[in-house]
Amino acid sequence: MIKKAIFPRCYLQGKHVLRNFGEIRELEGKRVFILATNAAVTKIIGPNMSFWKQICTVEYEKFGGKCTWDEIDRIFNIAKEGGFDFVIGMGGGKAIDTARVVAKRLGVKFIAAPTIAATDAPTASACVIYNNEGAIVDYLTTNNPDYVLVDTQVIAEAPVRFLVSGMGDALATWFEAETCDRSYFKNISGGFNLKAIMSIANICYQTLLEYGVTAKISCEKKVVSAALDHIVEANTLLSGLGFESGGLSTAHGIHDCLCNLEGTHDYYHGEKVAFGTLSGLFLEGRPQSVVEEVYGFCRSVGLPTTLAQIGLGNVTDEELDAAIHPVFENKESYLHNVRFDLTAELIIDAIRMADAFGSLEM
Ligand SMILES: [Zn+2]
Repeated sequence: MIKKAIFPRCYLQGKHVLRNFGEIRELEGKRVFILATNAAVTKIIGPNMSFWKQICTVEYEKFGGKCTWDEIDRIFNIAKEGGFDFVIGMGGGKAIDTARVVAKRLGVKFIAAPTIAATDAPTASACVIYNNEGAIVDYLTTNNPDYVLVDTQVIAEAPVRFLVSGMGDALATWFEAETCDRSYFKNISGGFNLKAIMSIANICYQTLLEYGVTAKISCEKKVVSAALDHIVEANTLLSGLGFESGGLSTAHGIHDCLCNLEGTHDYYHGEKVAFGTLSGLFLEGRPQSVVEEVYGFCRSVGLPTTLAQIGLGNVTDEELDAAIHPVFENKESYLHNVRFDLTAELIIDAIRMADAFGSLEM
């Protein structure tokens, strides 16, 4: 039995850390290519270019908005002419994933610079490729970033819904890692769980409970508080290490099912993962005290606790069944990381219980 965990080489987080690229010594005198979202070009590249030029040579390209093979080819063709030493992905998960694949193809170092804390993707090696219609066409494993640079001032100024969604993604981490660990399911990196990662996953959950509400208020006021700092770390680093080297289970498995229903398409990854986590609590028969704690947390930060809150107020059992089947029939899906004979009916029952508990008057 081999236990395995994978990590980014270096993680840097702080207020205005992007202004001097986190004082990364390796960047001095180098050629750096940035793939940036429109918002990052305006809010980060514009104001900081003069600082950066004192450190290294920087060129940038605007991200087209979708992580597709076409976009990866386009960016690769631009970047390959420049003799760059580093690629930076600056923006949300899709811009970072596109830059990650380009860096790997160029054989150069990669820096993830997330401008929102909506998911735990920045620290990871896995990335998702879509087609132009938005359907997933490939899952790739690249490398974990050489550096993850998280500017908490940038995160504080981003819409609060992103931060809350990131808490939803992070909420799943402990429960999924614990399920995988208890039953010896392999984690995403392909090994069994180390105690180090279980400890990280647990701290991730405790941090949400302790600082989630204050961090949300902090983000609403665009202030970098200690609580916001802790939640950014939970959403990005703790959740990232926790899922990749701790494993996924029903929370993300049910998320994948819910994504097959059109009503959920306007909701963020973390919002649907949060509802998947709630459903997983019933599927796995977690005790009442845990159920109440998790629902209390979701309500306190505004994560969805009912089907109506993820666009499925009128969903029928037949529709749920049709959404579950493509995921259920994939025996590789982490949906199957439970130690009992899972059926689509059990999943529907758990989803209905999650919705019923969430609909209780508090
Ligand atoms: Zn996730």
